[in-house]
Amino acid sequence: MKKRKTLKSVYTLSDLKSWHDVEPPIRLGVFGDPVEHSLSPQMQNAALKHCKIGMQYARLHILPNELREAFDLIRKLEFVGVNLTIPHKIAALELLDATDDNVKRIGATNVIKVESGKLRGFNTDGRGFSRAVREEFSVDLRDLRVMVLGAGGAARAIALQCAKENCERLVIANGTFEKGQQLADSLRNFFEGPRVLGPVARLQAIPWDERAFQFQIANVDLVVNATPIGLNRSDPSPIPSRLIAPHVMVYDTIYSEKRTPLASAAIEAGARAANGLSMLLHQGALAFEIWFQREAPLEVMRKAIS
Ligand code: NAP
Repeated sequence: MKKRKTLKSVYTLSDLKSWHDVEPPIRLGVFGDPVEHSLSPQMQNAALKHCKIGMQYARLHILPNELREAFDLIRKLEFVGVNLTIPHKIAALELLDATDDNVKRIGATNVIKVESGKLRGFNTDGRGFSRAVREEFSVDLRDLRVMVLGAGGAARAIALQCAKENCERLVIANGTFEKGQQLADSLRNFFEGPRVLGPVARLQAIPWDERAFQFQIANVDLVVNATPIGLNRSDPSPIPSRLIAPHVMVYDTIYSEKRTPLASAAIEAGARAANGLSMLLHQGALAFEIWFQREAPLEVMRKAIS
């Protein structure tokens, strides 16, 4: 029987169990719940085609209680690897055979590589974010005072990257203050250097409230939304427009809308803003490089999602 050429838009665990491959074969994918809206297949398939790598990348709707079995199946089916998205990035950790240092510190993984039947976890969100900021605003994290909104998986990857690149200042604002405080505490050793910034602390967690935002915005250069606020069209901006000053740059990790509520608020305030598409691109390019040990065709991937 001739194999199908076209990918189904979404595969499930039962597809993995009775696998009918396509041509070129599926050897990569993204696990999520929900996963329908993931842009990774179009980006990675464009890269695979451009590099003449004879395989395809699929969307796989995997429920939380199916993750272990799905991992066993991709070992057997000789996948090269998968991306993980909500809600698997944290839960996957205990099912992996090995993780890199980044994953251990962040407590979340977004890239799995299958090597001789073993699953190895990586996290490319932080480096993807760093490259995105450089591209969007022509500035390096080391020269910035940064405020990160959130303390979940994406926020932890971004905060660690800021710390590793020795950013000038890092402020963490989170709904649950204790989680933000814990994140700040875990990065304390990166900020013990001699940089002097006057009366404001180099590393600090703040409560999620307007007065705290207002004070900090006067003392930061970059505000990053790493919460899901803005995923729904009816969401407000996590920081109201009247609190945003024109000098700040705003990076919203959400990429489903070109103008997220936060980006709109920033632009209204006369500030510069970018959405998360560039981070998606760069974390995906870094994943491609982990899987294939070769440079990713960045412009091909960019075009596929723009
Ligand atoms: P997560 O682990 O669930 O963390 C969500 C964080 O947002 C938590 O710190 C949570 O605070 C906070 N939060 C949620 N609702 C809030 C509200 N109403 N008010 C204040 N804080 C709130 O999620 P994640 O995986 O880090 O993802 C976060 C965002 O990053 C998502 O929108 C995702 O699309 C985006 N992302 C983008 C990329 C990209 O490539 N562009 C990559 C990864 C993630 P509590 O601790 O108080 O619950």
